Amino acid sequence: MVVIKTKDDLARMRVSNRLAARVRDEVASWIRPGVTTREIGTHAADLIRRAGGECAFLGYRGFPGTICVSVNDEVVHGIPGPRRVEIGDIVSLDIGVLIDGFYGDTATTVMVGVTDPDWIRLVRVTQMALQAGVEKAVCGNRVSDISHAVQSMVEKAGFTVVRDFVGHGIGRELHEDPQIPNYGKPGKGGLLRSGMTLAIEPMVNMGKAAVKVMEDGWTVRTRDRKPSAHFEHTVAISSAGPEILTV
Ligand code: MG
Repeated sequence: MVVIKTKDDLARMRVSNRLAARVRDEVASWIRPGVTTREIGTHAADLIRRAGGECAFLGYRGFPGTICVSVNDEVVHGIPGPRRVEIGDIVSLDIGVLIDGFYGDTATTVMVGVTDPDWIRLVRVTQMALQAGVEKAVCGNRVSDISHAVQSMVEKAGFTVVRDFVGHGIGRELHEDPQIPNYGKPGKGGLLRSGMTLAIEPMVNMGKAAVKVMEDGWTVRTRDRKPSAHFEHTVAISSAGPEILTV
């Protein structure tokens, strides 16, 4: 069931998502070669808690980390741990917060120092694909118009979209309807209506689309061990166009 948010709900969604965005940006600019993914998670958790929020992913279906930190061939759901990030790595941060009853959700991929030109292109294309998806998040479009815009941008660049994980509605629940795949023909699925809040999140692989879950039960990585990037915004649909809440 799709939940349409009231004015008051949207005001609270702005607060939770603005916090998620601030933590995303502060952590992204703080990352240095040599820091562990655990230190990255701890830093994010400190920022979230100091602002009065909770780490939304901690304990979610048993997830053990405060945020998700996924390095290089890890796609999503990486658990912060002892791994040190190095120059040339790309590090995807997925930040979820809960504050005042509403969730915020956003992701970015950080390049640590100078990285390979192809990897830079992967990161940039993923970011552009998110933007292309957001631009389709308007009243009267259908869910798969977002999906199609993301897929087209990614495949034109010679990369692939991950099919096993999808974007989602968000609000009082971290994952609400509808699901938003990053692939599909346009004009399908539910109608986008004012008051819907959606987390749009392309996950893009340099090589093949296939992924697998590692033995820790969480970390998703590419089967071909080629790198993957992830960007995510939470967006409110309104008659004035898409409002990106995670800014
Ligand atoms: Mg999400």
